[in-house]
Amino acid sequence: GATVNARRLSYNFGTHWALKDISFHLPKGSFTFLTGPSGAGKTTLLRLLHGSLPVDRGSVNVAGYELKGIRRRHVAQLRRHVSVVFQDFKILPQRSVAENVALPLEVRGLPKRAINRRINAVLRGLDLASKVHCRCEELSGGEQQRVAIARAIVVNPKLLLADEPTGNLDIDLALRLMNVFRQFNAYGTTILLATHNRDIIQSVPHANRITLDDGHIVDQTVAEGAEHA
Ligand code: ADP
Ligand code: ADP
Repeated sequence: GATVNARRLSYNFGTHWALKDISFHLPKGSFTFLTGPSGAGKTTLLRLLHGSLPVDRGSVNVAGYELKGIRRRHVAQLRRHVSVVFQDFKILPQRSVAENVALPLEVRGLPKRAINRRINAVLRGLDLASKVHCRCEELSGGEQQRVAIARAIVVNPKLLLADEPTGNLDIDLALRLMNVFRQFNAYGTTILLATHNRDIIQSVPHANRITLDDGHIVDQTVAEGAEHA
């Protein structure tokens, strides 16, 4: 099955077409890099898939939700299954690391013990365990970015959308982060990650690739041996 199925999708900002008639699907459990130069339409595509831009040309199904004409309350439901990590991560600076990461689990009504167990597991993976009680504003930029990633993945989303998530990090930390993404991918989360960093792309040999340029898909590569549920 496919977690994302886009058919002839276009998107315009006024007279400017940021996406032009693109079709693709993301198999369940796949890992896909979204590449292409600045202005190619990567962020626009991620925002469409997250329901923060409306679909009015073409159609797209995400995690079972048909996004064209989707109602607001269904967007809220969709976002229980679709997590986002953007570069302008929005964490609550006055709150602790634990409080930030707990938030989406509390929204889902998980019991306190389960919340603590999941938080600890994710923070260990991201090398943040020692910071669990720190206020986020006391952390470095890279640490804050990892808190945002922890909050996005702690819910075991069906789909993770990431926009240059390693953008501000040095390469060692970026590659460690990729290991965390790969771990979640191995547990079944479908991942679409926008980046133009070659080292990052090469760090996931089984990943597929979609390349955008000026709103068009100019290349689509399915990795050899890519395994999908
Ligand atoms: P990328 O993420 O690949 O850098 P974007 O999706 O951000 O590309 O942008 C695609 C195109 O859409 C660019 O030409 C950009 O200038 C334009 N664009 C993006 N956001 C807006 C906006 N809010 N208003 C007008 N044009 C926009
Ligand atoms: P809504 O208010 O409908 O949820 P928004 O676009 O305001 O939609 O926000 C949805 C998510 O998309 C937020 O996490 C926000 O940080 C992110 N986002 C919105 N616009 C951009 C952008 N231009 N670049 C990166 N991330 C963005």
